[in-house]
Amino acid sequence: MALIVQKYGGTSVGSVERIQTVAERVQATVQAGNSVVVVVSAMGKTTDGLVKLANEISSQPSRREMDMLLSTGEQVSIALLTMALQERGQAAVSMTGAQVGIVTEARHSHARILRIETERVKRALEQGQVVVVAGFQGISDAPDLEITTLGRGGSDTSAVALAASLQADTCEICTDVPGILTTDPRLVPSAQLMTDITCDEMLELASLGAKVLHPRAVEIARNYGVTLVVRSSWTEEPGTRVSAPSRLPRPLDGLELAHPVDAIEFDTDQAKVALLGVPDRPGIAAQLFGQLAQQQLNVDLIIQSINEGNFNDIAFTVEKDMLAQAKTLAASLVPALQGTSETPDAKPDSVLVSDTQIAKVSIAGAGMIGRPGVAAKMFSTLAAAGVNIQMIATSEVKVSCTIAAEDCDRTIAALCHAFELNQSPARLEAPATAQGPAVRGVVLDCDQARLALRQVPDQPGMAAKLFQILADRGISVDMIIQAQRCREHQGIQTRDIAFTVAQSDADMARGVLQSLATEFGSSEIIVDTAIAKISAVGIGMITEPGTAAKMFQALADSNINIQMIATSEIKISCVVAEDKGIAALKAVHAAFGLAGSEEIEVPA
Ligand code: ASP
Ligand code: MG
Repeated sequence: MALIVQKYGGTSVGSVERIQTVAERVQATVQAGNSVVVVVSAMGKTTDGLVKLANEISSQPSRREMDMLLSTGEQVSIALLTMALQERGQAAVSMTGAQVGIVTEARHSHARILRIETERVKRALEQGQVVVVAGFQGISDAPDLEITTLGRGGSDTSAVALAASLQADTCEICTDVPGILTTDPRLVPSAQLMTDITCDEMLELASLGAKVLHPRAVEIARNYGVTLVVRSSWTEEPGTRVSAPSRLPRPLDGLELAHPVDAIEFDTDQAKVALLGVPDRPGIAAQLFGQLAQQQLNVDLIIQSINEGNFNDIAFTVEKDMLAQAKTLAASLVPALQGTSETPDAKPDSVLVSDTQIAKVSIAGAGMIGRPGVAAKMFSTLAAAGVNIQMIATSEVKVSCTIAAEDCDRTIAALCHAFELNQSPARLEAPATAQGPAVRGVVLDCDQARLALRQVPDQPGMAAKLFQILADRGISVDMIIQAQRCREHQGIQTRDIAFTVAQSDADMARGVLQSLATEFGSSEIIVDTAIAKISAVGIGMITEPGTAAKMFQALADSNINIQMIATSEIKISCVVAEDKGIAALKAVHAAFGLAGSEEIEVPA
């Protein structure tokens, strides 16, 4: 007999008829020989309605009373669904988060789950009852026993945390879409259903999945090896399987407060190549990486930071063995690139540099999503160890820095200490065979602003300071890029640091940069809100040369200029002009063969 946790979202329990349909499905799951725990959200748009109501009474209602209010939504749906089950002759009992014992930190409106008491649920299951649990809510530890909520969309997190605590066989997220799609179908109607995806890919696609699957739920599934399925509430279609790596057993205490960083990775086998001063126009990255791909040269990190005038610097890393080949190729492109410049006078020296004495050091962990300050902590740890950061590239769940090879051991020791990881760091091994397609999904984010601080002194501690101040102000930084370009400014070596934040935080972030510019003696601040970030994610790109080239070529073919590039092992992100966002998304989605001929029906 299997134990299944099924979660039904607001739309799935949005009316009496739908509640009855859900009850029928739950009963069928029981009759197929399973024990079932059901987690439900509030009916339809109930939570939005309650928020609105609160705002009519108070412009800044207290978080405690908001939790008191919002948690009522789920209490309605658990009672009604339980009645519907009982009406069908199915034994069932409803429980609030407090009744189950979903214990959270005492932090209103965004509480994280500390642990789940499983006795009461298990007892009810043993008696043959379906247990219907209120999602999205919990209770703080004694003596206060405050009602808390987990943040909007949090009932996915309740469901997966319950599945982990009960060691359920599967956790099904039943929703109003057929599963996870290759991109946002409202922007690209040819988006297709994915049959499989790994948790790591899902996390890198967080902004795509967020509406369907709460990233915190994916984080728990990944950490505890929960098998997750996202499927339609109305059909028998299998939906999308979100697979978790098999993991060593991990204590269930402090469930969601596990380390924000769960691995330190390093690679000393890479060499860096940088092309400085290439023209800032469509097709350059495509040309460079296309030629590298033609020679089967597998590129790891790619970084292009903010342009300087009409020029960019593009840096990448390859295995040391491949350096000579990569350099020859890049060098052969230099004259061609120079020849195409339209404004030769403004042109800086176009040069090729390379370095074999580098190490790539990364921190990885799903816990950094939505937690400002993790990158800052990495940078300040490096600063405290006196390590200078050459380049930085980030993705949703990873921050990578290149440093001098000689600093590698020291850096790793310091990072393990800072992030309280005692296991020895992993040297990243590319899997022998790709366990999936090079690109599984493509996502567009038009809600970001790009900021940059130019001519920051090239010495330890600068990035640390900048990102710590941003974190202290609660600003979540999305992409961070520090590129190869190193310029002399007022007699010292300097670099530019660029990053993106949510548009709503752009003004605050600009303020931070202004205060730092004076202190650093930097010359210029750049803020651009008219940008879009497009990312391609897939585990297969680790072993497939040419994946980045294909993405850049798709953009070039649509005459879209790439403003910035950052990569992780399984993700390539480009910043483009905002008005090119959707065209970029369509082009890249199609280039990787993800577009289907039939449109998938999704609710508005
Ligand atoms: N009802 C809550 C919300 O609307 C939680 C959920 O649906 O997951 O955000
Ligand atoms: Mg949801």
